[in-house]
Amino acid sequence: MAQRLKGIPVMPGLGLGYAVILKSTLPPEIDERILPGDVGEELKKFQDAVNQACRSLEQIRDEAAKKAGDQEAAIFEAQLLMLQDPSLLDLVEQKIRRDLFGAISASRQACEENAAMLSSLEDPYFAARARDVLDVRDHLLRCLMGTPLQKPGDYSDRSVLVADDLAPSDVISLDPEKVRAVVLAQGGTTSHAAILLKAIGIPTLMGIGVGLERIGSGDLVFVDANIGEVTINPDDQTEMELKARFRAFKEEKQVLAALKDLPGETLDGIKVELLGNIGSAEEAKFALDAGAEGIGLFRTEFLFINRQAAPSEDAQLAVYKQALSAMAPHPVTIRTLDVGGDKPIPYLTLVEEINPFLGVRAIRLCLQEQALFRTQLRALLRASVYGNLQIMFPMIAVIEELRQAKEILHSVKEELRAEGFKVAEAIPVGVMIETPAAAVSAHFLAQECDFFSIGTNDLVQYTNAADRGSQALTYLQDPLSPSVLRLIGQTITQGHKHGIKVGMCGEMAGIPEAIPLLVGMGMDEFSMAPALLPKAKSVVRNLDAKKAALLWQEVKQLKTAQEIRDYLQASL
Ligand code: PEP
Ligand code: MG
Repeated sequence: MAQRLKGIPVMPGLGLGYAVILKSTLPPEIDERILPGDVGEELKKFQDAVNQACRSLEQIRDEAAKKAGDQEAAIFEAQLLMLQDPSLLDLVEQKIRRDLFGAISASRQACEENAAMLSSLEDPYFAARARDVLDVRDHLLRCLMGTPLQKPGDYSDRSVLVADDLAPSDVISLDPEKVRAVVLAQGGTTSHAAILLKAIGIPTLMGIGVGLERIGSGDLVFVDANIGEVTINPDDQTEMELKARFRAFKEEKQVLAALKDLPGETLDGIKVELLGNIGSAEEAKFALDAGAEGIGLFRTEFLFINRQAAPSEDAQLAVYKQALSAMAPHPVTIRTLDVGGDKPIPYLTLVEEINPFLGVRAIRLCLQEQALFRTQLRALLRASVYGNLQIMFPMIAVIEELRQAKEILHSVKEELRAEGFKVAEAIPVGVMIETPAAAVSAHFLAQECDFFSIGTNDLVQYTNAADRGSQALTYLQDPLSPSVLRLIGQTITQGHKHGIKVGMCGEMAGIPEAIPLLVGMGMDEFSMAPALLPKAKSVVRNLDAKKAALLWQEVKQLKTAQEIRDYLQASL
């Protein structure tokens, strides 16, 4: 059966191809010791390697300038400077002279110590620079060992590249005509490899983790870098569907690009806000490039997973500030930590639960782990002065949770002001409608918050009591289920009755045939993966809102998701 993996979208898009697994060509870690008499020779070896690595980096820099542009070429200029940095060179020399390490061991240790120091600064910028130092290390070691620079050139013209991580120099040698997607176990979205992958335009997912080992060389792999999912070895039927999606993706991309700067508005002048979902501050750029009028969901959990300790207040502040400033004056809705369930984190001693989706996740976890929650709220509130912040709480089931979360938010605000920090005056606070309980009590919740955002990914699983990841229950995972639609309709009606905006940030918001129905229900905002925005905009701009309202009345009479889907497809 096809397997699925989750990752962080770095460059949105779709890619279908055969897996090419790239392995590191570095030597095994050994402590190579020398005799005092060999010091001179090792120093010379090292100096020659530095010179050779400089020449190879200069070549890569020139190639980058041609392929990606001057700004991207500067990445390699910076690496050249790192390679010639006297403090690094001195450290290697010391390790050879004083500690009697061979040139290979000394270079490796010096670069890795330098990288570890940068990583320990807990700042995403320095963490990304640490990756550059490791890239410099790889250049040096390859020159010392006489092995040529690794060229991931061993791929055919329908490849999906799979690797633990890629160095910027690896990326620059990729041919976007041949490599349809890149999937990495590690990788920071601010890394230079990520920046280059975006510049070259290859759909990319990072942060897949150990699950990457499930991809074998030559496997057929479908990468959906819009929603962050990889499908490995689909069955025949799925393969046909994925192939059709990939073809359509390529054709439509060209047509929709023209809509970017036009407003989200129906034919009869009803404004529909089209916003982006992001999982890192850097993705704000994709949202803007795709024509987003703001961010409707910033999933902050990616800041917290794949690491050994929670990010500090300052590290979080830097990320939130970056997203808010990039989007200003547009709104950025940042969701407080949503982990537990399918998104465990190693440094929290969560009790193992038989059914984690019904356990301590999202707001429930934050209310239990208040130190973690307060740190995030402090960072958010401190960032609020840099743009148009909205805060949103996930998985609210009962009004007490909302009240408690708001109380904590209020107390954090007072605390910050007492400490002399500036905090924006009015920060809208929203509730994600992800549980049937929240949808049913929308009339109460609406009186105590500023907006709703419907999270259909969870709302569907909780309404139909079917795990969102279960392969066997796809018929119960349909957001067009009549019961789900009724909960959505009711949430919108109640939200509007109490004068608040209602948006949707679950995957349903980006499904073209669902958009007319949701506009007909009165949905104010749609937030989706940036790459889906152009299509959504074309649907909205070809829609008559009055006709859409009638559509909802008609759909209400239908009894199954399939009937509803057929009806909507016919009317698109
Ligand atoms: C949702 O549940 O619809 C949602 C947007 O949240 P997530 O997918 O992150 O659980
Ligand atoms: Mg959810």
